[in-house]
Amino acid sequence: MKFSRLLIPTTKETPNDATLPSHQFLIRGGFINQQGSGLYNYLPLGKIVLEKIRAIVKDELDKAGCNEVQLSFVTPLGFWEKSGRADTMGKEMLRIQDRHQNDFVLSPTNEEAMVELVKNRVKSYKDLPINLYQINTKFRDEARPRFGLLRGREFLMKDGYSFHANKEDMEREFDLMETTYKKIFTRLGLDFRVVKADSGAIGGSGSKEFHVLANSGEDTILVCEDCEYGANIETVYENDDEVDTLNELSYEQLQSKEVTQKCSCGGKLYFKKGIEVGHIFQLGDKYSSALDAKFQDENGKPKAFEMATFGIGVSRLVASVIEQNHDEYGSIWTPSTTPYMVDVIVSNAKKENELETGAKIYEELQQNNISTILDDRKEKKHTYGFKMGDFKLIGFPYAIVVGKKLSDGLVEVVNRKTLESTEVTLDKIVEYIKELVK
Ligand code: ATP
Ligand code: MG
Repeated sequence: MKFSRLLIPTTKETPNDATLPSHQFLIRGGFINQQGSGLYNYLPLGKIVLEKIRAIVKDELDKAGCNEVQLSFVTPLGFWEKSGRADTMGKEMLRIQDRHQNDFVLSPTNEEAMVELVKNRVKSYKDLPINLYQINTKFRDEARPRFGLLRGREFLMKDGYSFHANKEDMEREFDLMETTYKKIFTRLGLDFRVVKADSGAIGGSGSKEFHVLANSGEDTILVCEDCEYGANIETVYENDDEVDTLNELSYEQLQSKEVTQKCSCGGKLYFKKGIEVGHIFQLGDKYSSALDAKFQDENGKPKAFEMATFGIGVSRLVASVIEQNHDEYGSIWTPSTTPYMVDVIVSNAKKENELETGAKIYEELQQNNISTILDDRKEKKHTYGFKMGDFKLIGFPYAIVVGKKLSDGLVEVVNRKTLESTEVTLDKIVEYIKELVK
């Protein structure tokens, strides 16, 4: 794609409420723009990143045998009355009325709707297990929408729901989803921890969260230096005030706090800050019983489905990648999330030989399946410095600068992460990049 053909409105302006790097850089880099409190538009670059993340989530879920579906975003309030959540969800659940005064809800999650979908369609134990998921818009009228995509009101979630004939099979699927989620977050290039989570009002022991480690995270988690153990502090401290106090401390303040608990393996426990990007949950028959969703078991008796539910914050992940990968200049995308792998910067696009050479490199990289953007912008303000600034702000992993050295047959390769630059001869550039991105 050519820069000149894409809407990438980079800016030096930072909105007043944008305190976190991901919020600032996603807006300044022209990825998103705010439409209202907790409401965001995805501009071309933001949309590419969102779709890349969505594709990885889908790929791993499909490989694990899950079925993608898509539920209506608007659900009848009646579903929520049957489960009792019409009363318990509170103001986060936005209610609307149609012209006939029928009550509806903008889906904050979809347990009820998915149970209604499966009810009377999946009839026998022979049809089980089944794991249905969607990647779809959610709406939660958050008390404090903030931090850009990290806590929006309208956001993209992957929500999955599995149905089983018995608890053992549900637990097997729960473990499979834990493995699958680890594959997803690893492919996204994230440093994350799986932690024991609070099961909240639903009860039961099977609830785990996936946290991207980042100093700006809203959650405080305990991790062991030696083993895989990790826990949200909500599960460790009985006192809510203590949890609130710890959550309010910054990452730096937390480091000086002594951890009184001890890991069962004997290792030392540390406080870390985390962004919750996934949550898997053993539900049991809470929703199937409430909504009278039953199948025939092996003895021909009606039995409520055993269920589990699995969420991933797809749009929150866009911001999480940046919280973990940025510097003072801007974002640094991971290879699997970057909108383009290489930015071919034509220093002065009014010089025909520079533009031609840039275009040639761009074509050849694309022929080699390396996603590339050509910075061919040629207005007066589009100086080398301006284009380099955009490269650093947007955060493509590599730039190839076609400029002054061209007369010596050389171009420059800049690594976004290290900001190191290397001169490469023109005839070797494609091979050089192929080697780099391998
Ligand atoms: P949180 O504690 O951060 O409010 P939650 O526990 O209420 O999240 P879940 O109901 O577990 O969220 O939803 C599944 C996933 O959806 C979460 O793990 C998170 O990644 C994402 N998510 C939840 N709320 C938001 C939001 N307001 N904006 C963006 N993503 C969200
Ligand atoms: Mg959660």
